Amino acid sequence: MTPRILIITGASRGIGAATARLAGAAGYDVLVNYVSNSDAAASVVAEIESAGGRAFAVQADASTAAGIATIFAAADARGKLAGLVNNAGIVDAKSRVDEMDEARLTRMMRTNIVGPMLCAGEAVKRLSTLNGGAGGAIVNVSSVAAKLGSPAEYVDYAASKAAIDTFTLGLAREVAAEGIRVNAVRPGIIDTEIHASGGQPDRVARVRGMVPMLREGKADEVAHAILWLLSDEASYTTGALLDVGGGR
Ligand code: NAP
Repeated sequence: MTPRILIITGASRGIGAATARLAGAAGYDVLVNYVSNSDAAASVVAEIESAGGRAFAVQADASTAAGIATIFAAADARGKLAGLVNNAGIVDAKSRVDEMDEARLTRMMRTNIVGPMLCAGEAVKRLSTLNGGAGGAIVNVSSVAAKLGSPAEYVDYAASKAAIDTFTLGLAREVAAEGIRVNAVRPGIIDTEIHASGGQPDRVARVRGMVPMLREGKADEVAHAILWLLSDEASYTTGALLDVGGGR
C-alpha cells in the first residue's frame, strides 16, 4: 500500500512531537520536520518506529520557500500526501509594541503566518480533487492568544495567530468543494519549551491560575484534538477554530 504521508512542521518537540507520536500510532507515515534539533527529531522518529509505526525526519526551515520545497520534495519521494499540520511557530521576548523592531516582526510573521500559508498552498496542489488528488485535511495550530491579544507580552505573536484563524476560515471555504478540510486548534497555556524560548521559563506556573480549569494543558491534549480534526470522524467539520485552552 502507498504510504499516507502526514507532514507535521516543527515536530521534534512540544505539540508537534506529541502529534507525531499519535499520528504514527494512527497509521500515518509521519514526516517529522524540524529546523535545528536533529537529536530530538531522531528520537521522535525512533519512538514511533519502536511502537510499530512509520516516520522520517526532514530538516528544513518551514518559514522559507526553499525549506518548504525541501519538505514537500521529501514527502513526494516517500508516498502520497494525506494531510498537513502547520504547527511550527515561535514567540519572542516579552515586549511592548513600541519596543518591537522590523527584524522581530518580520521573523514572527514569516514563521507564524507566511510559512504556514505557503505550506498549505503546496498541500492544496497535491490534495485537491481539481488536480487529480484524493482530498485530505489541513490543521493549523493557532492560539487562544488570537482572542486575548497578549498585551505587554507579545501582541505580534497574537496578531500572527489571528491571521492564522482568518486564513483557516478563508482557505476552508476556498477548497471545501475540492475534498480538503481546513481547521485550526487554538491551544491555551501548554507545558512545552516555547515559554523558555521566549525568555519566560516560569510562564506556565505564573499563568496557570488564570485558566478556568486552574491548570496548564499537556501537549498530548492538543495532539488528540489535531488527530480528530485530521480524521474521517471530522468529515463534516471544516473552517472550525477549536479552542483547547481549559476554558480560556
Ligand atoms: P516548542 O516546544 O517551542 O517547539 C517548537 C517546534 O517548532 C520545534 O520542533 C522546533 O524545531 C520547530 N520549529 C521552530 N521554528 C521552525 C522553523 N522555522 N521550521 C521548522 N521547524 C521549526 O513549541 P510548542 O509549544 O510545541 O508550539 C507549537 C505550536 O503551538 C506553535 O505554533 C505555537 O505557537 C502553538 N501554541 C503553543 C502554546 C503553548 O502554550 N505551548 C499555546 C498556543 C499555541 P527544533 O526542535 O529544531 O528547534
